[in-house]
Amino acid sequence: MTRRDSILREIGLAPLWRLRNKPAAKVAAPAEALQLPTAVPAGDERARRIAAMGWDELRTAVAECRDCRLCEQRKQAVLGVGDVEADWLFVGEGPGAEEDERGEPFVGQAGKLLDAMLAAIDLQRGRKVYIGNVVKCRPPGNRTPEPEESAACFPYLQRQIELIRPKLIVALGKPAAETLLNAEVKVGAARGRLFGYRGIPLIVAYHPAYLLRNLPDKAKAWEDLCFARRTLQGLDDVGG
Ligand code: URA
Ligand code: SF4
Repeated sequence: MTRRDSILREIGLAPLWRLRNKPAAKVAAPAEALQLPTAVPAGDERARRIAAMGWDELRTAVAECRDCRLCEQRKQAVLGVGDVEADWLFVGEGPGAEEDERGEPFVGQAGKLLDAMLAAIDLQRGRKVYIGNVVKCRPPGNRTPEPEESAACFPYLQRQIELIRPKLIVALGKPAAETLLNAEVKVGAARGRLFGYRGIPLIVAYHPAYLLRNLPDKAKAWEDLCFARRTLQGLDDVGG
């Protein structure tokens, strides 16, 4: 066992240790095996344009975007909020009614819970934390975004991740996890394990809106947060 592996084991990063030591075939989605979503072809001109944008261009492009039908009923597109040099990137599903109204992610009931969850691990919106969503425009009636809507919007999130280069991505709920991992994900099975998105460590956690509907699972949210905290701490400790 290498020194790095023994440190990871010691600090409780067993999932990572297990992932690294399992035969590849048994690993659900290790960083090396991840592929980019195929819905936007690699040679796509629009994706290339977005991939070259800075924050100002990105903000304008998203505000004016009409590239999927979610533009039809939105009041405004919601790019994201927070520290553009964040260590932590939290990714939700898409704006709800209040977010659509105010232009900021996670400001409704689920947002209040997310803020409380952040506070529980000494984090604060905007301070080393960036919060975004898979789709930037509110799906009517808060329905789950369709795969083609997520795919159309994904280049914006990809560019955000590229610009922020967070140390850890926390995918909140199934749509965020599935978009970022380009795989079918069961949150209950994926939480507590370490994945990766283009070399950036990624974990999957319950979405705060789900927790509001399933109060007994709030304890699991706490476990998810502790795992997230330990993961980032561990990465810092080993100089990752
Ligand atoms: N739910 C989300 O996934 N994102 C938001 O911004 C608000 C609620
Ligand atoms: Fe454009 Fe994304 Fe809004 Fe669709 S959801 S219109 S792709 S910004």
